[in-house]
Amino acid sequence: MNIIQIPAFSDNYLWLLHESNLRDAVVVDPGDHTPILKALEENNLDLKDILITHHHNDHIGGILELKKLFPDVNIYGPSDKRIPANIIVKDGERVKLNSLHETFKVIDVKGHTNSHVAYYFKNKLFCGDTLFSCGCGRLFEGSYIDMHKALSKIKQLPKETMIYCAHEYTLDNIGFAKLVDPNNEDLISMEKKVKKIIDKGGYSIPSKLESELKINPFLRFDIPNIKQSVQNHFNTEIKSEAEIFKYIREWKDKEYD
Ligand code: ZN
Ligand code: FE
Repeated sequence: MNIIQIPAFSDNYLWLLHESNLRDAVVVDPGDHTPILKALEENNLDLKDILITHHHNDHIGGILELKKLFPDVNIYGPSDKRIPANIIVKDGERVKLNSLHETFKVIDVKGHTNSHVAYYFKNKLFCGDTLFSCGCGRLFEGSYIDMHKALSKIKQLPKETMIYCAHEYTLDNIGFAKLVDPNNEDLISMEKKVKKIIDKGGYSIPSKLESELKINPFLRFDIPNIKQSVQNHFNTEIKSEAEIFKYIREWKDKEYD
């Protein structure tokens, strides 16, 4: 499977998937139709399927225009009246599209929104705004318990899994992560690496789950150092890992951005 990374708006990534021997293409979260049409044309591809992770406009805003040009396109998404899907996907379901050789599994990752899903192909996760490199989505609709559960599911995927998230927030996220995890050398070296990439106009996404487990404070709620750091910051004793996650999210929301 080939994956074409399409930057959109100020910091979004849209993902176009296709097999080398087919003209069929699948787009994940088409927030804007214009760059997708350009990529389809440049690569001589025909849009067959759309996968939607959640209802925010930067993820669905291009659907209407795409549907006009490709009236037979199938739109996969979770059950949510805000998402114009014609095929509803559910947690745990495996789906084989005619347009791709690989099967994907649907993972319920509610937290950022109440119906957010992720699409997992072998060692590739399209997770919308649930997990970012060195960060995670804000809790707009779900509870911290929901998001902790969602991130725990992602933590259990194979370490080689590449994370195809929807935003380039990495450097800013690292800035916050350094407050929570100041002695983490992996974080410091990642910051240097990402700075170089961004300075050259490159992308820090996709990132590898293996490295996220070392640097992303929102996946590190089971690490004693992180627990200690959060307890010190809030001057309180924390009992569960879900609560550690909650406090880290609060720390970032209230004191960082
Ligand atoms: Zn969103
Ligand atoms: Fe978004």
